[in-house]
Amino acid sequence: MATGEVRRAQAASTKQLFEPRYVEMNQKFQEDVSVLVLDGTIADIGPRDALAARHPDAERIDWHGFALVPGTVNAHNHSFQSLLRGIAADEPFFVWRDEALYKYTPCLDADAVYAGALFAFSEMLLHGVTTVADFFYVHDNGTENDEAVIQAASDLGIRFVMARTMYDWDGAPTAYRERVEDAVRRTRHLAVKYQGSDGVTIHPAPHSPHAASPEMIQAGHRLAKELGTPFHIHVAEEMFEVNEILRDYGVRPVHYLDSLGVLDDSTLAIHLVWLEDDEIQLLGSRRASLAYCPSSNMFLADGITKIPELLRAGVNIGLGTDGACSNNRISVFEEMRMTSLLQKVRTLDATIIRAADTYRMGTSAGGEILRLPIGKIEAGYRADFVAIDLNDLSLHPSSKDLLLSHVVYAMQPTAIRRVVVGGKTVVQDGQLQQVWNGEVRQRVTAVQEKFARMAADER
Ligand SMILES: [Zn+2]
Repeated sequence: MATGEVRRAQAASTKQLFEPRYVEMNQKFQEDVSVLVLDGTIADIGPRDALAARHPDAERIDWHGFALVPGTVNAHNHSFQSLLRGIAADEPFFVWRDEALYKYTPCLDADAVYAGALFAFSEMLLHGVTTVADFFYVHDNGTENDEAVIQAASDLGIRFVMARTMYDWDGAPTAYRERVEDAVRRTRHLAVKYQGSDGVTIHPAPHSPHAASPEMIQAGHRLAKELGTPFHIHVAEEMFEVNEILRDYGVRPVHYLDSLGVLDDSTLAIHLVWLEDDEIQLLGSRRASLAYCPSSNMFLADGITKIPELLRAGVNIGLGTDGACSNNRISVFEEMRMTSLLQKVRTLDATIIRAADTYRMGTSAGGEILRLPIGKIEAGYRADFVAIDLNDLSLHPSSKDLLLSHVVYAMQPTAIRRVVVGGKTVVQDGQLQQVWNGEVRQRVTAVQEKFARMAADER
């Protein structure tokens, strides 16, 4: 475990002038525009020469071969699942769940949880994710594991939202399960502890209609209201949940949540694959949000969420990778591409969704659904940037008018050259800046060896 303090605010006052070739603003690339950053927040955007003349005391950051785009927002992940990547791939959902998640969870102590989070968040940063919401549920009846995940995020410098899971279905491993009052107390404790922190936010996250009791879901919703945050919940990812809720409550999942009184603008649903039209309309009329995870839905053969219909109904949609053992990549640029391709082939309509739509989902809409000032290059937003290399072949033929389409459909990870969070450079040319890349590999290998010993003991 690393022992460093989680940073609560930037230590010294800083003034930086980022000077790229292009800046993406309102989905258009502007040339010869600079971005002024004061103490980690975008303070001004304007013509390069004028801004440099106005702020002679700013540190000038030469990004002349790069385009500056917002860091992407990963609205749904389970960091520990990176340690299980490849296990039970190509298996049905329940085999995958039992052979990967449930089998290895008992080996996950705070050190392993830290290793998993460091691993997941490192890979995300290297692929241009600057904020991640980690839906974390291996609490082991306490908050030590939660703190290990928060520490990993802080050590790397990624902006972090813990969707602290509230789980009480007794079919799951004991490490996931809590009594309602314990889940509320611990989630509230963490939320209060990190209130006012620059890089860490805590949201309640009752797991799902099938793995959280009605009391747990209502407690999560109440706590979200108390804290002024959204609450995250998986909804209708698989048909089995729809069938279970129909069997036990006589209604489908969205109507079930409505009957509990929790369906409103604080509802941040994950997946929403198996919905009927009236559920889509109800979600829209209540201003609920969705964290959409297309690769994971394909990997696990869940089904296809009706994204254009949800957008039309008024549901705000961000993107998530889900865990790295159900994707198995964890890049939001990848999810932009997947969202678009999957909806085009579902509807047999190439015009149904455009690069600009999925780009927005992976950036500013992600910020909106997490209620953070991120995902946009605009004064007042946090200085979370990605520098993409205009010389990368995947961004050619080169043209500022084609660049947005290239970023969504063509860009390879080789183009991601700098990643900045809150004005601080956390990735440079493939190297993490606050942690040594090799340390991440070493920690993953150590956990892998532990898994192998456990498997040998079983034989
Ligand atoms: Zn999930």
